Parts: sequence; C-alpha cells; structure tokens
Amino acid sequence: MNTLSADLVEDRIYVLRTRWERYVAEGRFEQFIEFAVAVNSLTEYFSRLRLPGLVRLCEGLENAALAKLGDEETHPVPQQDIQSLQRQVDTLLGAVASSRPSAAGRRADEPPSTTDIDWIKPRAIWMVAAPEKREMADALARQLKFFGFKMFALDWDALRLPEDMPLAVLFIPASDEPGDVQFDCIAAIRKSCPASQLFYLGVQSAIEPIVELMRAGIDVTIPAEDQPAMVLNCVLDLVQSNEQEQYRVLVVEDSRVAVALIQRTLAQHDIDCHAINDPARLLEALESYKPDLVLMDMHMPRFNGVEATRVLRQMAAYNALPIVYLSGESDVGMQVEALRLGGDQFLVKPFNPVLLAAVVKTRIERFRETRRSTRLDGLTGLLNHTSAKSRLQSMVRETETQGALTVAMIDIDHFKSINDTYGHPVGDQVIRGLAWLLKGRLRSVDLIGRYGGEEFIIALPGVDLARAVPVIDRIRRDFSALPHAHPQGALYATFSAGVAAFPSIHHTAPGLTEAADQALLQAKRLGRNRVESAD
Ligand code: GH3
Ligand code: MG
Ligand code: MG
Ligand code: MG
Repeated sequence: MNTLSADLVEDRIYVLRTRWERYVAEGRFEQFIEFAVAVNSLTEYFSRLRLPGLVRLCEGLENAALAKLGDEETHPVPQQDIQSLQRQVDTLLGAVASSRPSAAGRRADEPPSTTDIDWIKPRAIWMVAAPEKREMADALARQLKFFGFKMFALDWDALRLPEDMPLAVLFIPASDEPGDVQFDCIAAIRKSCPASQLFYLGVQSAIEPIVELMRAGIDVTIPAEDQPAMVLNCVLDLVQSNEQEQYRVLVVEDSRVAVALIQRTLAQHDIDCHAINDPARLLEALESYKPDLVLMDMHMPRFNGVEATRVLRQMAAYNALPIVYLSGESDVGMQVEALRLGGDQFLVKPFNPVLLAAVVKTRIERFRETRRSTRLDGLTGLLNHTSAKSRLQSMVRETETQGALTVAMIDIDHFKSINDTYGHPVGDQVIRGLAWLLKGRLRSVDLIGRYGGEEFIIALPGVDLARAVPVIDRIRRDFSALPHAHPQGALYATFSAGVAAFPSIHHTAPGLTEAADQALLQAKRLGRNRVESAD
C-alpha cells in the first residue's frame, strides 16, 4: 500500500523545481520532457489528495508545457516562453506554500490517523450566504460544527478574509440566478484560495449557468433540492478516504529490454508493476499480485498473448480486468482480431511513454470506479452487505495468526417510528448521519459496512474487547447528540450495539457476527441506546 505523506509532496515539489531549473540552464529536449513528467506526477498526487485548486494550477502548467513540447529542434524554447512558464511555476509553488496547514488542524479527540494525510487539510469552512438564506445556513453550520469543522461567515463583498485557509467555501445565494456581484466574489475567493473546494448551492439544473459558475472558479454546484445533505456528503468526502492504493500493473512480456522500458515509464507515474516473462505463470501472478491492469505482449514462447487473454475472459474473476496489448505487431488485421478476442486496447511498440501512461491510468481509474460502485452502498458510501462480509472474512484470516479483532453490530433504535413520523427521506438522512459519524470516528483500517436497512457492522483490527467497548460507547453518546435536520426543526436518534471479539470463543467470521448479533438483541431487551458485549 502506498500511503500519502508530506514527504512525498515535498519530494515531488523538489523534483519539479530542480528539473525546471536544469532545463532553464541547459535547454535540452529530454530535460523538458522530464519536467513535464514531474508536473504530471504532481497533478496526479494532488488529485489523489483531493485538492482541486492545486490540481487546476498543475493542469494549467502541464497544458502549457505540453503545448511547448515540440521535438529536439524546437528546444530551447524562446525566452518569452521560458518567462511565461516560470510565472506559472512560481504561482504553483506559491500556492502550495500557502496551502500548508498550521499545526493545529486536528482535534484532540480524533483517533490517531495511520498516515500523515492531514497535511494540507484545513478544517475551516467559509460560508457566504444571502440574508434570505440565513436560517438554512445556520442549520448547516451547526451540523458541520458537530463534525468538527471551524465555521466562518463572510459577506458577498469578500473584503475581509479569515486567516485560516478553508477546506471548502460554501456560496448560498438568495436566488438561483447568479448575478455580477457573486461572480466577483467567487473569483476573488478562488484567487486567494487555490487549494479549496468551492461549492455553489442553489443552481437550476441547466448547463449554461453552471458553466458560468465553473469559469468563475466554482468546483461543485448543488441543486437547491439536494441541500444540505449533499453538502455534508461532499465536505466529509474531502476529509475522508483519501488513502488510495497504488495502481498495480502486471506486465506479461518475454523481452527484458521491453520490461525495463515499461517499468521505467510506469515508475515515473508512481504505478507499481510486476513482470512475468512466461504466460504460463499468468494465473498464479494474477492471484498473488492482484493487478488493476495487464499489459500483454503478443508474441511469446509457448502460447501468445491473445490465447492467454481468451483464457482470462472465460474466468469470472478476470472477465472485467483491463487488458492492454503492447506489441510490435503492426498488422492491423491481427490487431483487430486481438481486440475481438478480449483485449481492451492495442498499443504498438516502440511505445510513446506519455500515451502508455495515459492509457494505463485512465483504464485503471475506470476499472476501480466500476468496482467501487459494485462494492459500496449507494446511500452511505459504506461497504455493502456482501463486500462487508467478505472483508470481515479476510480480516479474520489475517487475525488468526496474530492479534485481536473486535466486531460490532449496530442497529438504530425505533427507526420505524422515525420513518412513520418524519418520512422516509428524513429516515435516510439519519442513516447517513450515522454512517458519517462512524467514518469520522474510526480509523481507515477499520471495516465499516451497511449490513441492512438501519443496521451497520464494524470491525476493529488490533483492538480487543476491553478497548473497543469505550470507543463504540463514545460514538453511541455522540450519535444521540447529533441533530438531524428536518423541515420543522431537528430530531435526535439513538442506536444499540452488540460487540464480540476474536480470539476468545469465536473463531470464524459468521461466529463473530452471530455473537455480536446476540449481544445486540440483549442491548435492545435491556432498554436500547446501550452497548452490550458477548460473554
Ligand atoms: P428497534 O429499536 O427494535 O430496532 O426498532 P426498529 O423500529 O428500528 O425496528 P426494525 O429494525 O425492525 O425496523 C427497521 C425499519 O427500517 C424497517 C424499514 O422500513 C426501515 N428501513 C430499512 N431500510 C431503510 C432505508 O434505507 N431508509 C429508510 N428511511 N428506512 C429504511
Ligand atoms: Mg515478445
Ligand atoms: Mg432498528
Ligand atoms: Mg433493524
């Protein structure tokens, strides 16, 4: 697993700056390519950290660099191009510097993070609301405060900006029609906060006004009927689940020179890769390495890439895995045939490194996106029933040899009456509220799943029963104090939980779940709004 940390940001900045300086001094084409690759790698990194403003600046620089790429003859580029690129480099470095957070970003009661991804993650949120929307803005601010954000109210003239750089800025206009004043305000804030996410609440679902707002600097527009649940969703998303596993590519290729070239290109883009030179070992490698994509040579000893691909397409586990041919085969008929038999794309050798990286990355992104949507629950973004169960199974397997594991089943109390009294949408909002609370309070290594309607499962690896119970009880208390907004005001809900731990008496995933379920029943019997452990 590749974890994101401040060091890596600093490394990338350093590489970018030195490569640019080297090009300015010597002016060689290869140096310019190296510089462009460094910019691209920083773009990717910021987009993984979800820092849209910095991504935008990086992309601007990347596009400007690509426009000047040319070839050996066109380098060094004219002095005026150097100067304009220099200005963009300076703006980017300046924005990165001002986006570094002050040390006090984290609350004392937050669980310790396993990585250092809070770098550059401010907890402040600015709100620019029309007086007509004051009430709604205040309610939203209260909810966000509950989740630990520091709220600042601003005026539309945006004259005095708070010192804390915001994670997000929420614009709440009086009507759906954006006027000139708003554009000025948005543009001014966009300029001062390149790393923040800008939300505009209340635009009609037409393309034109949204495009206008995006040009002014808005990142996300949220239709009036979806607020404020959607805002909470988006904002919490910005601070959570930033950890992403490194992309993995399996290279099936018999030429060692080709492998070395591919490996070098992918490494520059932070993509992990593993190579095998014999397609007979393909299944074994897929099983142990679990790649996101296979780069397949066509001509290899024993059997060729097309035959190997056909085999994979017959297996349920691999029929959606992206397979890209990378081959010297220049016969178009053969290429078409290879695609028909299960390949996703065909690239010819010698390959263009920029194209190879782009193809690999976009294919993997899409593959992961599809996989995500089949694994996650649509309402909460948590693991769904099936994937939570299989995740628990592998957690139990990992724990068997060493360490502790605690499982809890959580069920919202008297949920039927919440639905009956306030309606189904408000009930949904309560379910989401609990999901967010769990995401905010548990570690990234913990399992959180939506097990059924208003029932959740959590599993805490490395935590025994004695340590788990107070954590869950604390979440129980906080949940009971969480206001859920509804048209007439706010309602409060509670949950009951049953907890069971490995290794004690339960040695299997179903055994643990069953024991936790029994304890949950006991908590309900004893009056609800409490945490009970299995004996
Ligand atoms: P208890 O305290 O014993 O748990 O009582 P309860 O009312 O919560 O009882 P129960 O667990 O049987 O009721 C769950 C209800 O949740 C039944 C179902 O209509 C409702 N429900 C299930 N899924 C959803 C959902 O996605 N959204 C909403 N709003 N309601 C749901
Ligand atoms: Mg070959
Ligand atoms: Mg219930
Ligand atoms: Mg239930």
